[in-house]
Amino acid sequence: MIRHTWPDTALPPPAPVPLSTSDERIPLQLRRELDAACARPAAQQPAWPDATAVHAARALLGAAPPITSPSEVRLLRRRLAAVAHGRAFVLQGGDCAETFEENTEEHISGTVRLLGDMAEELSSTGLPVVTIGRVAGQYAKPRSKPVDVLGLPVYRGDIVNGQDPVPSARRPDPDRLVRAHSHASRAMNYLRALRPVTGDVFVSHEALLLDYELPQLRADHPSEGGPAEVFATSGHFLWIGERTRQLDGAHVAVAALLANPVGVKIGPGTTAEEVEQYADRLNPRRVPGKLTFISRMGRENVGEVLPGLVERIRESGHPVVWVCDPMHGNTHESESGYKTRDYDDIRAEVEVFFEVHRQLGTHPGGVHLELTASDVTECLGASSGVADADLAARYETACDPRLNHRQSLDLVRVVAALLGG
Ligand code: PEP
Ligand code: MN
Repeated sequence: MIRHTWPDTALPPPAPVPLSTSDERIPLQLRRELDAACARPAAQQPAWPDATAVHAARALLGAAPPITSPSEVRLLRRRLAAVAHGRAFVLQGGDCAETFEENTEEHISGTVRLLGDMAEELSSTGLPVVTIGRVAGQYAKPRSKPVDVLGLPVYRGDIVNGQDPVPSARRPDPDRLVRAHSHASRAMNYLRALRPVTGDVFVSHEALLLDYELPQLRADHPSEGGPAEVFATSGHFLWIGERTRQLDGAHVAVAALLANPVGVKIGPGTTAEEVEQYADRLNPRRVPGKLTFISRMGRENVGEVLPGLVERIRESGHPVVWVCDPMHGNTHESESGYKTRDYDDIRAEVEVFFEVHRQLGTHPGGVHLELTASDVTECLGASSGVADADLAARYETACDPRLNHRQSLDLVRVVAALLGG
């Protein structure tokens, strides 16, 4: 195996471009609050090699047409309020990492049709389904290690660098911020065209990269009057990942100022005190539909950890949506060396999630899945019977292993049975 020495590791890190919003379209008081939020430490930001290029990219993003509109975001907030009240169910899914290359008609329509079929299965239980794609902006990846097995800087998603295992591709490139926006706009345009087929599909991504999110903030006044609200126009629903959910960090502080519904991924290390603090900070006015907790505990931990968190929130009276991500706590390396997930673990985590809510009298509000309509071989098991030896055949993900078409349909039948029963 060739180990690369990354040529820039010996250089001092470049001066970061200040994270701030000087956008005069946002009222001064809100701008001040945003700037204070951005002054907090922001985890997982790339070391861009060229500050001038980052400024230029941010100016282009600030001038570009928004991807989503405040009225769409408000509609999603109302739909999620219904989920918080136990009257609807969330189906959120798509690639772990979207790529520019796969931003194609075939790939997007495949994901949207699959989500549509899954939503139909779920709505047979009588509950309306709120469908949210990990689509049109899911380009930034948090990483646990700064270098990969070859000694190269890790791939951080197409919005930052390239997947090819060579130093030039892995260098963060600020032009990618603008390319990501163009791709997201194209994907959103196509989703809107597909809509009369499929019903509303909202879009979501991890709000990881602040250089992408901040220039796309816009202020809007509610039609019924009232103070201006700030919208992230990069998507409808944004979430904060497990690696950037520091209570004193920039991601939480920025999300607290947004009118968008936001999610927080919570792993097995999350405490009851923390979830209550997230709720107090991210939704102090207790607006139903504003805050979703996306629990990603792992099969082994969910029964142990989740009940205490749900109980604490129930006692606090905060109106939150509880969503189960049964993917991210169940990742392991297969014997053949692939990062994979076992369908049985995924299914078991969903079952325990439902059981916890049944016991506590709270609403299991949805599922959050990494999936694709292609017949990939990335996760093990289910009726397609993917075995360890099959993983090499079609292991195509840019990051985490996804459920394939059949595995997704198998799982949604399980979820529908739990929801209906
Ligand atoms: C993801 O959703 O792809 C992800 C990285 O999740 P988490 O933050 O839960 O690890
Ligand atoms: Mn993932």
